[in-house]
Amino acid sequence: MEIDHDIPRLPVDTESYKFNGDWDIVYHKSHILKSMCTNNHKCIKDDPGCCELCCYEFKLELPHLPEMVFSKNNLVLTHKNGARIEFNPLDALARVKNGKSSIRVACADEWKSSRDDAANMQEIKPFDWSFTTDYQGTYNDKIRCEDTDAKLNIFKLMQKERILFYHDLSLFEDELHDHGIAACSVKIRVMPSGFFILLSYFLRVDGVLIRMNGTRFHYEIGNNYILKEYTSREAKFESIKHLPPAIYTTPSEIEKHLTITLKKTQKLFFD
Ligand SMILES: [Zn+2]
Repeated sequence: MEIDHDIPRLPVDTESYKFNGDWDIVYHKSHILKSMCTNNHKCIKDDPGCCELCCYEFKLELPHLPEMVFSKNNLVLTHKNGARIEFNPLDALARVKNGKSSIRVACADEWKSSRDDAANMQEIKPFDWSFTTDYQGTYNDKIRCEDTDAKLNIFKLMQKERILFYHDLSLFEDELHDHGIAACSVKIRVMPSGFFILLSYFLRVDGVLIRMNGTRFHYEIGNNYILKEYTSREAKFESIKHLPPAIYTTPSEIEKHLTITLKKTQKLFFD
């Protein structure tokens, strides 16, 4: 492949694409959330001068945030009639339960004490440290959701089509103190026939379990809706330990070996 050395490569942090004259698709991408308050811990809730980290902490009230929060990353789709779908890390983390997680890490006590040290010992709310989220995007009031028996058009999605626009964005990631990974990301693919979005939450707790929450969105030109399929999958390590370990780190591969615990399909009408 030839590389043109004369053109300086600037970091791309936003890109947009107009699809079929109907949809404006744009993403923003930037650095991760700073781990320290930039106002010397003097931030005030709802104050316009509040630093980004404190805004996150005030809004989420989680005892701690994932190691990497890509706070500026988002993907936004706007239809010409005003319907809007967005994917962002704040809303994804807002769906993390602040109750006790039922998953135990292999060396849970060690884990717990290291986390307790990191946070203030007082008033630690038990919360889901796996950051499990069932986030399925953020919609404005021009989007109407309706349950459906329709199925994703896998045949259409498998067809080889020209890719007009593609992007893959991380929303947050945490390595669970080297016990595995929890990661949330969104990717979009635009083709002449429509677009496809995969929003995914992937959790691997080494020696314990693998969990995936995936939301697939498929829009086909001519429809007045986007088909959305949400699926939760899970398997205990015990039941998948016969598989080659390389599969554990490849979400698209391991997905087939997990048990579906929840599946829900909806049409998102936008006019
Ligand atoms: Zn602050």
